[in-house]
Amino acid sequence: MIKSTIKSFVNRLFNSPASDTKKTKARVYHQEQHGIDRRLVSRNAIKVCEVLNQKGFQAFIVGGAVRDLILGLEPKDFDVATNATPEAVRACFRRARIIGRRFQLVHVVFGPEIIETSTFRANSNGQNKTDEHGRILNDNVFGTQEEDAARRDFTLNALYYDPLTEQVIDYHNGLSDLRKHLVRIIGDPETRYREDPVRMLRAVRFAAKLNGTIEPHTKEPIKQLAELISNVPDSRLFDETLKLMTCGNALACLKQLREEGLHEGTLPLLDVVLKQPGGQKFVELTLDRTDHRVRLGKSVSPSFLYAALLWRLVDVYWKRNIAQKEPPMQALIHAADQVLEDQVHKLAIQRRHTTDMREIWFMQPRFERPVPRQIWKMTEQPRFRAACDFLQLRAASGEFDSVQAQWWMDLADTDAAGKTQMIEELAQKQKGMPATSANTARKRRKRRSPARKKAALPQQDIS
Ligand code: ATP
Ligand code: MG
Repeated sequence: MIKSTIKSFVNRLFNSPASDTKKTKARVYHQEQHGIDRRLVSRNAIKVCEVLNQKGFQAFIVGGAVRDLILGLEPKDFDVATNATPEAVRACFRRARIIGRRFQLVHVVFGPEIIETSTFRANSNGQNKTDEHGRILNDNVFGTQEEDAARRDFTLNALYYDPLTEQVIDYHNGLSDLRKHLVRIIGDPETRYREDPVRMLRAVRFAAKLNGTIEPHTKEPIKQLAELISNVPDSRLFDETLKLMTCGNALACLKQLREEGLHEGTLPLLDVVLKQPGGQKFVELTLDRTDHRVRLGKSVSPSFLYAALLWRLVDVYWKRNIAQKEPPMQALIHAADQVLEDQVHKLAIQRRHTTDMREIWFMQPRFERPVPRQIWKMTEQPRFRAACDFLQLRAASGEFDSVQAQWWMDLADTDAAGKTQMIEELAQKQKGMPATSANTARKRRKRRSPARKKAALPQQDIS
């Protein structure tokens, strides 16, 4: 043990980050073999590699970007790995800052695009500080490119693309796995999951995202180690769960999570939700909608997603509270508290999200019995559009009238004049009078005294 520690120390001493890397084990692929279209590579990521190269360092695009480029997908962002230290990287660029205390990396800033540039790091070799389950607590030892590849999670995430030579360097046969859409962990699966239990969630996510499978040895220990997820800091778990739900294939993710017993630590209330009447359908509709938005490149709001995933449970508690003689609105507030208390306790949904979720939920009863003079106020609430969107989900699941739901969506989409007209028409309809045209409605309002006008439609002064 002491001998190996000394050996590793000596190795490290002579393998300073800026020294040459051993490429003996690596396969090198040329453009015709990996097929990356350089035009899909961020100009700024290429620039970072060029500049570092000119200064005598090695620099490669790594991780998800290489994986996605080989699959012909558009990468979300570009990361660079280099043998230059963070200080050396910073010195190469005008707009660059070092971030992170324990694990330092450099953000090289090009307008809205940030190229995250990290120094090759060494594999743990059992020397990193861990907790009692083997989870790595510090992970900031510089190393060679080969060591950097070995500490990455899956073979398909450990590919290095040199945009100058257009070569892909592959230490773990990742290209072949990627072609087979096979998610294979690097190293011993159990050790790697103990080091960082989030890797189990990532295995599920990449398999779902790539429409692929988890390689049997990689999959084998997951069920047994699933409970280690509870040691992961809440905020990281929240981020990972959100990534799972927004990977573009959320339903497959969820199925796999449940199969592996990983949903307990990520979406603890899901089983209960799915058992509720209509629970399964509502969750499926929610995830379908999310996938659709992701594929269109649209954003997905975490509050909407969680509001939808938990809704069937909120609804059941709401009705139960009403049956226990609580007034309807109070019953709903109480139901939201009951559900969130349970969920938030296990999974850190930040306060700003739970506030938004409540807003979305609490607007639902107001859609059922619209009071024309209150509608303007509703439309001004920041979550009004999200609440209307939510109503569409409820309509699609058959728990709300779809014509009425569409009326609300149209209201959210139209301009101020359109809103005035729609609200006026609704008011007439409720009074049992034929709807007037917009012009007559407007003329009428003009004739009213300012005080009455205010009482009828409080926010009419929006122009
Ligand atoms: P995406 O950005 O699409 O979620 P990604 O693979 O780029 O996928 P990131 O979280 O951005 O994921 O990580 C970038 C790279 O860092 C990964 O491709 C992988 O090589 C490495 N990595 C990330 N998380 C881990 C981890 N928990 N353990 C080991 N390596 C990791
Ligand atoms: Mg990434």
